[in-house]
Amino acid sequence: MSTNPIPCKSPAGIFQPRIDLARCEGKADCLRVCPVEVFDVRRLTTEEKETRTTLTRLKLWFHGGKQAFAVRADRCEACGLCVQACPEKAITLERVSR
Ligand code: SF4
Repeated sequence: MSTNPIPCKSPAGIFQPRIDLARCEGKADCLRVCPVEVFDVRRLTTEEKETRTTLTRLKLWFHGGKQAFAVRADRCEACGLCVQACPEKAITLERVSR
């Protein structure tokens, strides 16, 4: 049984959040609102930073080098709270299963 206090829109495993890494500034609103703890926000490794564009690396430098990761994406119940909460409009929900 889910402990989610928000009525879910889909069973877990049908949708997952997709984070636009060119937009995410690691402000952690997604982490705060997600009722099923999908997200983690952490500092990027040197190797991860090297995969980002020059503009994104510059933004990371300004914002403490952190970004959000959907580390438990399989828990997502498509409530949409993270999409609404992200101030950078960096999150979309993507259907991953029928
Ligand atoms: S839509 Fe976002 S806030 Fe809602 S369960 Fe999925 S990841 Fe969490």
